[in-house]
Parts: sequence; structure tokens; C-alpha cells
Amino acid sequence: MTLPLPDDLLKVPHRRDVPFARLTTLGVGGLCRWLFEPTTEAEAQAFVRACAREGLPWRVLGGGSNLVVLGDVDTPVLRLALPKTVHREGTRLTAPASHGHIALAEAAAKEGLSGLEFASGIPGSLGGALRMNAGAYGREWVDVLARYRFLTPEGELVDKAPEPGEFRYRWSFLTGGRVVLSATAQLAEGDPTTIRKQVDDYREKRGTSQPLSKRNAGCIFKNPPGQSAGRLIDQAGLKGLRVGDAEVSREHANFLVNHGHATAGEFAELMDQVRSRVLEVQGVDLEPEVEVWRG
Ligand SMILES: Cc1cc2nc3c(=O)[nH]c(=O)nc-3n(C[C@H](O)[C@H](O)[C@H](O)COP(=O)(O)OP(=O)(O)OC[C@H]3O[C@@H](n4cnc5c(N)ncnc54)[C@H](O)[C@@H]3O)c2cc1C
Repeated sequence: MTLPLPDDLLKVPHRRDVPFARLTTLGVGGLCRWLFEPTTEAEAQAFVRACAREGLPWRVLGGGSNLVVLGDVDTPVLRLALPKTVHREGTRLTAPASHGHIALAEAAAKEGLSGLEFASGIPGSLGGALRMNAGAYGREWVDVLARYRFLTPEGELVDKAPEPGEFRYRWSFLTGGRVVLSATAQLAEGDPTTIRKQVDDYREKRGTSQPLSKRNAGCIFKNPPGQSAGRLIDQAGLKGLRVGDAEVSREHANFLVNHGHATAGEFAELMDQVRSRVLEVQGVDLEPEVEVWRG
């Protein structure tokens, strides 16, 4: 990274040399050389504008629950640190992108609002969830999304309702330098006991089917249309396949787990092996769901 960075960029709160092991759920990766953590939308806008003006490449990070980082990352990384307030208006809830995703689902349940039960076991931030159009149990974010605010790659603020084509299965157009700032979910009044039971049932289901006691990044590959990536990996006989301390979970074949000292390189190697083996045995080329950052 060419130094020095411009003064207006350096006014945005930042830290140096933060290990990605602390910023991601998988717990691997090199150093984040420049971690910018704006506490206001204006600071986030200043960050994006300064990078755009200088032609500086940069990345945006949420809760790091869908990410494998290989090596050190020299380009500036933006991680929003907006105040974690949730605003209710009727049956709508609005929260900043840096709000914890599970905490938001909890807040909805406490308010007796139904619609975010599916989100109750998906970690990370609201911004990451919107970017990924995260979902589970037949529901996904776009089903409840009423409005959202984001910055364009040039740093312009946009506040809008979702439109067709902007979100689909584990994909949204919120890439390429767009930064989600906040989102509003359209929920419905519900019976608090029923909502709580649904949340607890989903949690229990995850607890028995996913390797939650070990560090992981959720599902590694997207489900191909009409198929389950986990089943394809399982049927290819890959449960328990190991590269160093990285292993294909024996509980859920689409999860790779960190046995404690895995490196990002080991995860990348394991992902490659799983992908080529499934292609060879099942004739299906799996598409990664996790994002891989190369330093
Ligand atoms: C145990 C476990 C279970 C999981 N279960 C599910 C599941 O059931 N369903 C599911 O869909 N996912 C699941 N995931 C994956 C992951 O939690 C989701 O994809 C989550 O929404 C990612 O959010 P994040 O904040 O951690 O994003 P990150 O991992 O930090 O980033 C993911 C992507 O989002 C981008 N991003 C992050 N914040 C913003 C922002 N503010 N604006 C624009 N882009 C942004 C990043 O640049 C990156 O491209 C699971 C993960 C784990 C560890």
C-alpha cells in the first residue's frame, strides 16, 4: 500500500495490524494492515469518498462469518462501528448494518414481531446478511426487506426499497464498493410465545446438525439448483477429509472446521480438494458460498 494515506482518510478511526484470526469466525488469516472503523455514516462516507478520489482499492468487512482470508491484507478494510440502536415504527424495525444479526433477530422476537425467526442462528452483521441475502429454512433477507441505505462506490448515499433483480439466492448487487449502512425489515405482529418457540426450535436444529463447538464459516459451498451441497460432499465420501488442522466436518459435510491451529492455506487447499473431488465423483462443480480474500 502506497504511503502516506491521505489525511482525510486517516481522520476516520482506524487500527493497524489487526489479525484476521480475531476478525473472522474461522479464526485464520494474516494481518489486516489498515482497519477503518467509522462510528458514523458521515465517517463511512468520508472513507469511501477519499478512497474513490485517490483510486485506492479497499474492502468491506462485517462479522467475518463468511470469509477466508489468505495472507496479510494491505488495502484499507472498512468495518462499520455504528451505534447499535434498533428503531421500531409500527411493525418495521430499522437497524444499522453493523448491528449483530442474531441480536437483531432476538430484538424482533422480544418485540413480538414475526419474520426474522429464520435469522436467529445466522451470525455476522446485518450488513453482511443483506449483502449475502442470508437465509435459512426457506426464508431469506429479501423476503422481509422494506428499505435499505447504502453508499455507492463514489460515496453517494442511497435510500431505497428493494427492486427485482437486486437480490437472489446468496447473492445481491451490494458488491463492488457498495456499503450497506442500514436496513428496515417489514415484520408482522405475532404471538411472542410462538415466535420464541420457533427461534428455539431453529437453534436446537442447528445445535444438532452443525459443528458449532468448532470455529467454522458456515456453509462453504452454495447449494446447486435442486441439490444439497452437503449431501454431494457426503456422498463423495469426504466427511473427515483433513488438511492439517482443517477438516470437512463429520457432522455437516458442507462445513469445514478449524481444529485449533489450521491456517488459511490449509482451508484453501481443503476447499480445492472438496471441489475437485465432487466434480470428479458427482459431475457437479460447486460454487463457493464463502468469500476468499487474497492479500
Ligand atoms: C455457524 C454459522 C452458521 C451460518 N449459517 C448460515 C445460514 O444459515 N444462512 C446463511 O445465509 N449464512 C449462514 N452463515 C454464513 C454467514 O453467517 C452469513 O453469510 C452472514 O450473513 C455474513 O455476514 P458477515 O457480517 O459475517 O459478513 P462477512 O463475512 O464479514 O462478509 C461477507 C461478505 O459481505 C460483505 N459485507 C459485509 N458487510 C457489508 C456491508 N456493510 N456492506 C456491503 N457488504 C458487506 C463482505 O465484503 C463480504 O463480501 C453461517 C455462518 C456460520 C459461521
